[in-house]
Amino acid sequence: MTAIDAPRLRSRIEWQIGRVQAIVAETSRVKSIVLQPARWPGHQPGQHVDIRLTADDGYRAERSYSIASPPSEQLITLTVERIEDGEVSSYLLDELQIGDALEFRGPIGGYFTWNQTANHPICLVAGGSGVTPLMAMLRHRRALRVPIPASLIYSARSLDDIIYRDELDAMSYSDADLRVIYALTREGPRDWNGHKGRVDEVLLAKNSFAREEDPLFFVCGPAGFVESISSMLVKLGFDPLAIKTERFGPSGG
Ligand SMILES: Cc1cc2nc3c(=O)[nH]c(=O)nc-3n(C[C@H](O)[C@H](O)[C@H](O)COP(=O)(O)OP(=O)(O)OC[C@H]3O[C@@H](n4cnc5c(N)ncnc54)[C@H](O)[C@@H]3O)c2cc1C
Repeated sequence: MTAIDAPRLRSRIEWQIGRVQAIVAETSRVKSIVLQPARWPGHQPGQHVDIRLTADDGYRAERSYSIASPPSEQLITLTVERIEDGEVSSYLLDELQIGDALEFRGPIGGYFTWNQTANHPICLVAGGSGVTPLMAMLRHRRALRVPIPASLIYSARSLDDIIYRDELDAMSYSDADLRVIYALTREGPRDWNGHKGRVDEVLLAKNSFAREEDPLFFVCGPAGFVESISSMLVKLGFDPLAIKTERFGPSGG
């Protein structure tokens, strides 16, 4: 596929109405929205949907949201973080109610997806709500029960800002092949003995498998975070072609 074909393919994915089945508060700034699609061809972990809001005067706003649920589920879960003065995220977090109709299209994206047949260890690196598509990969891996070694290095402001924390803790507790590492950038509890501060080269080197194991990397979060993690991984000697990235917001966001 060429860059010219990509927008054409995207426009062929038709808009549809999903019905909101549930809304789950994940943290004080994040909610998950569970949608019942009218039709769904299935998706790969890592793909996203576009959401389109239309105001009474016809004004439209369109944004992308990663799918957090695994392919095995019929309902689609999106996880949305509040962006201050954000047009679409504010609506989704403050106005949207169970039973509402939401216009969306998808699944979209074929590059930032994980396919278990690759059979390489996976190292997932998340900044904030960038954990969403990585959660779809971990949920899929759990559903398949494949013993593919995996690690998640997850950077959040504080313990309370960690999305899906209970589920992640339970996953890593019950799975010897999965490591979950939190890095808290702002505040940690007094007895916190995990990583404090930003994800750095030492933390990455310790939790990203040996080069000989040919790990695959999926890095997702704000643009600045993704760029800094990718360049550290390249500096550590990992193959740039094995590092897949998805940027959620503007540089420095
Ligand atoms: C492929 C893809 C998948 C995405 N998946 C998710 C997801 O799963 N969950 C999720 O919450 N978001 C996700 N996003 C981001 C999402 O599409 C919106 O950009 C985000 O919700 C902000 O939209 P808004 O209308 O609320 O803010 P806007 O009205 O567009 O922006 C308001 C202000 O905030 C700034 N801003 C916009 N986005 C960000 C950001 N992410 N971080 C910091 N500042 C920002 C803008 O520059 C502007 O100054 C994804 C983006 C992409 C490209």
